[in-house]
Formats: sequence, C-alpha cells, structure tokens
Amino acid sequence: MTTDIRVRIAPSPTGFLHVGTARTALFNYLYAKGHNGKFILRIEDTDLERSQDVYTHNIFESLKALGLQWDEGPDVGGPYGPYKQSERLSLYREWADKLVDSGHAYYCYHTQAELDTEREKAQAEKRAYIYSGSCRDAKYREELAKKPADDGSERKPSLRFHIPKERGTLTFNDLVRGEVSFDMSLIGDFVIMKSDGTPSYNFAVVIDDLLMKISHVIRGEDHISNTPRQIVIYEALGVTPPHFAHVGMILAPDRTKLSKRHGAVAVSDYIKQGYLPEAFCNFIALLGWSPPDGEEIGTLEHFARQFELERITHSPAIFEKDKLNFINGKLIRTMPLDQLLTVARPYLHDFDLAQYSTDKLHMILDAVREPVTVLSELPDAVNYFFGQTVILDAQLVGEVLTGDEPSQVLERFKHEFLATADFSAPDALAAKLKEFGNNLKPIKMKTIMWSIRAAVTGRTHGADLSKTLYILGKDIVCHRVETALTLTTGSPA
Ligand code: GLU
Repeated sequence: MTTDIRVRIAPSPTGFLHVGTARTALFNYLYAKGHNGKFILRIEDTDLERSQDVYTHNIFESLKALGLQWDEGPDVGGPYGPYKQSERLSLYREWADKLVDSGHAYYCYHTQAELDTEREKAQAEKRAYIYSGSCRDAKYREELAKKPADDGSERKPSLRFHIPKERGTLTFNDLVRGEVSFDMSLIGDFVIMKSDGTPSYNFAVVIDDLLMKISHVIRGEDHISNTPRQIVIYEALGVTPPHFAHVGMILAPDRTKLSKRHGAVAVSDYIKQGYLPEAFCNFIALLGWSPPDGEEIGTLEHFARQFELERITHSPAIFEKDKLNFINGKLIRTMPLDQLLTVARPYLHDFDLAQYSTDKLHMILDAVREPVTVLSELPDAVNYFFGQTVILDAQLVGEVLTGDEPSQVLERFKHEFLATADFSAPDALAAKLKEFGNNLKPIKMKTIMWSIRAAVTGRTHGADLSKTLYILGKDIVCHRVETALTLTTGSPA
C-alpha cells in the first residue's frame, strides 16, 4: 500500500517569512508536486504574545508571490482544519487528556521560579539540567499543589510528558541524514501543555501532524533535537510517526547563521529590492539541493519532476548573493518583454510611461536590460529616455565633451546627420549612424560615439546608441545635442 504524500509548512507568525522557512516551504512544495501529494500550510500561532496578524499576512503573500500555493490552509480550508493552531486549542486539550489517562503525562505544580532555582543549581554543579521529575510522584504532587505559589496565588499546573527511565536510546531514520540516535536519559520530562492552557510546540506539532495525516516532515535541521520528543509522543499514542527529513541550515558566506546583519532575511525584502520571485525561488531551490539533470535554472514544475529527498544535502548551504544576482539578471535578460514591462512598472512610477507606445517601452527595456541584475536598478537605467533634457555633469563635460574633436563631432552630427536622418526606421537609422561615423575619419569611431552618447544621454555607457536615438525621436535628440553644444568648448581640455 502506498501512502498518500502529505507535507506541510508550519511557520510561526512571529516575523516576516524568512529565507530559511521559504526554502523549507519550497522543498515541501516540490516534494508534494512531484509525488502527486498535498502541500499544506499551517500557522503555528500558539505563542500569542509574539504572533501577529501582519506576519501571517506577510507569510501568505510571500508564499503566494513565490508561487508556492498550498492545497489546504487557513484561508482555503481543507478536510483536517482548522489550520491555525490558535483555533485548535480544544483538540490539544483532548489529546493531552488521553496522555494523562494512559499514564504518559502528569501535572507538574512547580512554579517557574522553583524550576529556575533547580536549573541554577544544576549550572552551579556543572551538570546538564533536566527536570527532576519530582511531580511524577502523585503524593508529592498533591502536597505541592496545595501550597500557594511565592506570590500567594494558587499554583497553575503544566502538563509534562513522562520519559520512562528504561527508554534508553531512541533511533530514527532521517531521510536526509540517515540514522540518528538520541540518549533519552538526557532529555527530561518535558512540558506538553503550559500552565496557561496552551500547548507546547512539540506537542501541538505532533497532534497536528497526526490529525492532518502528514506523511513526511521536511524541515530545518534546527528541529532535529525536537524530533525524539515528538517521536515518544507518537509512541505513547500508539501511532507510527511520519517520515522525517532534516535539511541542512542556510549559512551566510562567513559560515555563521544567516541573520539581519548579513542583509535582508525576509523574502518580501528581496522582492521589494527587485528580485523576481521566480528567480528567488530558483535560487533557494539550489540551497541544499541540486537537480539531477544539472540544469540549475528552471521552473518549479521542472524541479518538482526531479525532486527527491535523497538529493538534499545535510551539510549547510551558503547563501551566495552573487548567485542570486546571476539568476535574477539572467531571468531579466531572457523574459518576454511584455512580462518584463509588467514587473518593471511598479519600479518606474516616477516616469511618464504613457508618453511611449508599448512597443517603444518594450524597446527601452530590451535596450537597457543587459547589465541589470535587480529591477530596482531600472529607474536609473531608463532615466535618460524620459524628459526633454539630461544632466550633463561637469565631469562628463570635462572628460568626454571638451576639446576640438567632440565639438566637431556634435556640430557635424547636428548639421549632417540630424538634418537628414529618417527617424522612422531603426535599421536605416543604425546604418546611417555608421556611415556618419565613417565619414568623420580620422576621428576615431570611439570618440564619435562617445561624444554623441554623452550629449544625448548624459552617460558614457548605456543602451545601443542607434536604438536610443530611434526611441528618443528626432526632436529630443536635436534639443539635447544643441544643449551639449553650448557646453562644449572648441579648445582642447
Ligand atoms: N513552527 C515551527 C517553525 O516555524 C515549525 C517547525 C516544524 O516544521 O515542525 O520552526
């Protein structure tokens, strides 16, 4: 019998969607899509103090932008909802009671202050701290329950899972890391329901994965030490745990944990900076996984067809921004122009795009996109296509437009080229520009083109010159050349 593949991403809405969580989501998504499975979104918001709606919203929007649409989740529903932990509290209560009834869990009446004292004592004695387990004893527990807490209030118990002494070593087969073992005597009886009535992460996650029929838990390696705690709960409930696959962490190039100090860590920040969601997704797919066909640039569908957990590496992946830039730049250079215009528009709101036809806007983007790595570079790249004039700064005038040759070039460009050129056909204009350059010998072609480019665009580099002239049109080119001529001096610099 084959099991249905059901995987999930279970972010806590305590921050914007992190690159690491996005990568985990993507791996789950690819696995589901490649195996005819279901990809589920569950919001783990039991930390009521730190969870915020704005983060939940950001998680939804970022996952959607990346193209990782879930099959079941808080907004779309599904057969095993609700998909928000804060709406499942009665379920945790119910399952916690089962563990109490079967003797796998017991109430612990120690206050936080008492537990802190136990911990400090262990630290002073240089012992690893684990809870003493004294409340396991019913008599002790009942006595303690009667005593008021330090502030005189009634004690509120938490519920702890009992790890029997004889449990010994727990071993499980991780689909990424192979066999992993934990000495359970080093893990104390841990809290499954807090004294405020909310479940602990380890408990809620098991109940949810169980009830949501999750077949594979694919998540970051930082959760590996939680796994034995989760497995013993499954054992106590008499059910088979899901398969586990722990993916290596993402590190910054300095091999420390990727954090704000290395730059943006939220997916939405990268998108705001002008990374295409497709490029970002492509980049994170390669953080710890590689497609067997060696084609590193591909669509989600292409990757999903080849995605197997065995190819995930357990060693850390390094977040190389250059690679992200490379993929993003490549996508910008190769994407259809109508799509590029759509994604570029929000970055170009300062320009009057309506002054150009769609064809010309496509031409502009095509002419400038070669060196662009992120969309936020576009305003600067297209700047000289807009407005009557361009700024000719002193350095440009000094370096490119001063001297006999540049002024001669511009004079003749005005009288010989602009006076007769037909601006209606780009190919003819390119041929005419070449012919004009040849006629100006012995002035070097480079000097000629630089002078014209500087006068017309205010830059020394940019889009193909004849295309630039064509897009700008004769009137604007004339106007800019005349302005430049007033600044050039015939005398050598
Ligand atoms: N809420 C946990 C997190 O965001 C989920 C961990 C898990 O996948 O089990 O890290």
